[in-house]
Amino acid sequence: MKGFAMIKIGETGWIEKETPKCGPLDAICKPLALAPCTSDIHTVWEGAIGERHNMILGHESCGEVVEVGSLVKDFKPGDKVLIPAITPDWNSLEAQAGYSMHSGGMLAGWKFSNFKDGVFSEFFHVNDADGNLALIPDGIKVEHAPMLSDMVPTGFHGAELADVQYGDTVLVIGIGPVGLMSVAGANLRGASRIYAVGTRPKCIEAAKFYGATDIISYKNGPIDKQVLDLTHGKGVDKVIIAGGDVDTFEEAIKALKAGGKIGNVNYLGSGTYVKIPRVEWGVGMGHKQINGGLMPGGRLRMEKLGSLVAIGKLDLSKLITHTFKGFEKVEDALYLMKDKPADLIKPVVVI
Ligand code: NDP
Ligand code: ZN
Repeated sequence: MKGFAMIKIGETGWIEKETPKCGPLDAICKPLALAPCTSDIHTVWEGAIGERHNMILGHESCGEVVEVGSLVKDFKPGDKVLIPAITPDWNSLEAQAGYSMHSGGMLAGWKFSNFKDGVFSEFFHVNDADGNLALIPDGIKVEHAPMLSDMVPTGFHGAELADVQYGDTVLVIGIGPVGLMSVAGANLRGASRIYAVGTRPKCIEAAKFYGATDIISYKNGPIDKQVLDLTHGKGVDKVIIAGGDVDTFEEAIKALKAGGKIGNVNYLGSGTYVKIPRVEWGVGMGHKQINGGLMPGGRLRMEKLGSLVAIGKLDLSKLITHTFKGFEKVEDALYLMKDKPADLIKPVVVI
C-alpha cells in the first residue's frame, strides 16, 4: 500500500509498505477524508517526538472499516467511522485510573504517527476497535468528520481543563483551529465574556462566530495588560491556552483572578521551564491552578462530540478553509499547513 511519510526529520515522501495486520481486537480502515495537523508539522520539521524513519504521517481522519478482528463486536466491514487521534488501550491501568490518553506511559495513547504508522495511507490499523471507533452519525459531512479526530476534542478539552462554568469570563489564548474549538467549547459550557487572542482576520471572524465577545492581539503588548484593562483590573475566571509558548503562562497567570484555573492544550516545543510569576501566583498561595492535558480519545467521546455536530449545536464549516480532492493531495495539504498562509485555518482532503 502507499502512504505519505516522514522519511526522517525535515524530509517527507511517498512510500510503499505492507498493509497492516489486524489483531483480534483491532480494525483495518481506509480513509474517507484526512486532515493534516499543526502537530504533523512539529513532528516532521521540528523533530518534536524525536527521529522517525519512513513513518506514515497523519492522525486526523474518518474512514471505512475494511476488516475487523475476531473479537470485535460492534463494527463490521463497510461501516463508516469517526476515528480519534488518540486511541487508548482501554484495559490499561492508566485508563482505569481515568487517564486513558496516557495508557502505556505518558502521552502513549497517541499512537498514530507516533508509535505506529498514521492515517495518510491507503489502509491503517486501529487498536481496540470497539473502544475507539464510532459510527459517523447522520448529518455529519465526510469532509467535516476529521475535525472530530483532534481539533474538536482537543479544543473542548481545554475548556474542561480550565473547568469553565456558567457565566465565567474566559480568556482563550490562540485562535488557530484548536483555540477556535476552545472558544466553541467554552461557549457551550456557558461562558459569558470570551476574550480571544489572535491576529489573523479569518481566525478572528471564526472566533466571533464560535462565541468570542472580545478580540485581543498579542502583538499589541502583553495579553495580561490588555485583559486587565478590559476587565477594570479584575482579570478573568478561566484561561485556556491554545497558542504561544513557555512564556505564555506568565501572561495567563497575571490575567487570572485568584482561584482561577488555566487549561493548557498547547504543545510546548521549546524552552526548559514554564514561567510562573511568583507575586501574581499569590506568592504561592493564590489558588491559581494550571492543568495541561493531551486530548482524551475513544469511542464515547467521539459519539458525544459527533452528536453535537449532528444535532446542529456545533458547526464545523468555519474551521475548514481549504478542501482538496484525491488521496495524493494529502501532500499539498500538509505543505499548505507548513506554509500557513494567513487565510488558512484547516485544510481537508476528501478521498
Ligand atoms: P495554530 O498555529 O493554527 O494557532 C496558534 C494560535 O496562537 C494562533 O491564533 C496564533 O495567532 C496564536 N499565537 C501565536 N503566538 C502567540 C503568542 N505569543 N501569544 C498568544 N498567541 C499566540 O495552531 P493549532 O490551533 O493548530 O494548534 C494549537 C496548539 O495545540 C499547537 O501547539 C498544537 O501542537 C497543539 N495541539 C495539542 C493537542 C493536545 O491534545 N493537547 C492536539 C493537537 C494540537 P495568529 O492569529 O497571529 O496566528
Ligand atoms: Zn492533530
